Amino acid sequence: MLQLVDVAQRSLDSFIPVVGEAVVDELRRLAEPLRGARVAQINATPYGGGVSELLRSIVPLERDLGLATDWSIITGGEPFFAVTKALHNALQGAKFALTPDVRETYLNQSMRNAQLLDMPYDFIIVHDPQPAALPELHGRGSARWIWRCHIDTANPDPDAWDFLRPFLAAYDAAVFTMQEFAPRDLPMPRTVCIPPAIDPLSPKNAYLPPDMCQLALSWIGLDVNKPIITQVSRFDSWKDPLGVIEAYKLVRRHVPDLQLALFGAMALDDPEGWQIYRQVMDQKGDDPLIHVHTNLTGVGNFEINALQRTSRVVVQKSIREGFGLVVSEALWKSTPVVASNVGGIPLQAPPGIGGFLVTTVDEAVEKILYLLTNPSEAASLAALGKEHIKENFLITRLLADELRLLKSVAG
Ligand code: UDP
Repeated sequence: MLQLVDVAQRSLDSFIPVVGEAVVDELRRLAEPLRGARVAQINATPYGGGVSELLRSIVPLERDLGLATDWSIITGGEPFFAVTKALHNALQGAKFALTPDVRETYLNQSMRNAQLLDMPYDFIIVHDPQPAALPELHGRGSARWIWRCHIDTANPDPDAWDFLRPFLAAYDAAVFTMQEFAPRDLPMPRTVCIPPAIDPLSPKNAYLPPDMCQLALSWIGLDVNKPIITQVSRFDSWKDPLGVIEAYKLVRRHVPDLQLALFGAMALDDPEGWQIYRQVMDQKGDDPLIHVHTNLTGVGNFEINALQRTSRVVVQKSIREGFGLVVSEALWKSTPVVASNVGGIPLQAPPGIGGFLVTTVDEAVEKILYLLTNPSEAASLAALGKEHIKENFLITRLLADELRLLKSVAG
């Protein structure tokens, strides 16, 4: 068996105060024909990164709606995840060296995972490229298979795409965050566009009073009486943490007591993380106003929630970004963002809502400074941002989209 991830029991009724009764009733209505359906959600890691964040919320809520949903993770060692990370990078446009060794590592481990997959399922939703070969290598059985791609695959490296594409032919449908991410020669019959969403009741996003924020942040060395800007992201070059430090140092010339917090999770399937972390630490040097933390030093949802709430600006300086849940997380907490105009970010913070979209370090510096020095405008932009997230990017909307998708692939 693949390893199951344990999740708690939750009730959708607890969402009524946030989204209203009609939304929850509609979800129950949509789920009715799917009651008892056996659904597998399969990805590569139980923690670190947006996919695990989503599944941690989606799985118990689908169960509350009467579906029999499991969450399983594939197995793999360092060599396999080094290959899948290279593949992930290549699907976002980096060069890919498709050596016989790379092929063999991916195929052998995928075969092992296929052998571990038990098939008592009606629907199998496979997230991202790491487990993508499962239906081809296992056989489709009687399940409907959906490939849920969370990354920006608009311009993949041709060799990487040629390698992955044949595996995708075994699926009934593909889901992308944006239509633009879907390569034109997708081999499956159906393509759907569903952006991710955040869980307003998770410990990361639920309301935290200011005294608890203060407690959480002073615990990790931040002074809540001085301004803070933040980026929360896996240590990944696509997230450009070094660009964030560069921008921060330029802004600090004008705001000398400004602190920078960089929180970066280390995910199981991301062996590049430590390399980027070391580069970040080199760049930080002995600067006492730059605070770098990872989930492995005990920093988790409580501190991230406090940080996203307390920061004057949340930065997301990605070079490529599938979606960037952290943007919605910040806006939900009424914190304005300065974020790159790439991938799924402008869906969450379109012009005039939530903050500013930027493309260069210089633009980021200018907009961060603007928000720091114009607090009432910053607050109005953030309020519009919160409203936009409430309307479009809460987990209840994602659940509804997923239920509709299951119903449509069931035919
Ligand atoms: N995250 C976290 N701890 C960290 C860094 C990130 O819990 O140190 C979470 C973050 O709050 C968000 C998710 O991981 O919920 C990252 O999702 P996003 O879509 O922004 O990026 P991805 O990692 O999927 O590329």
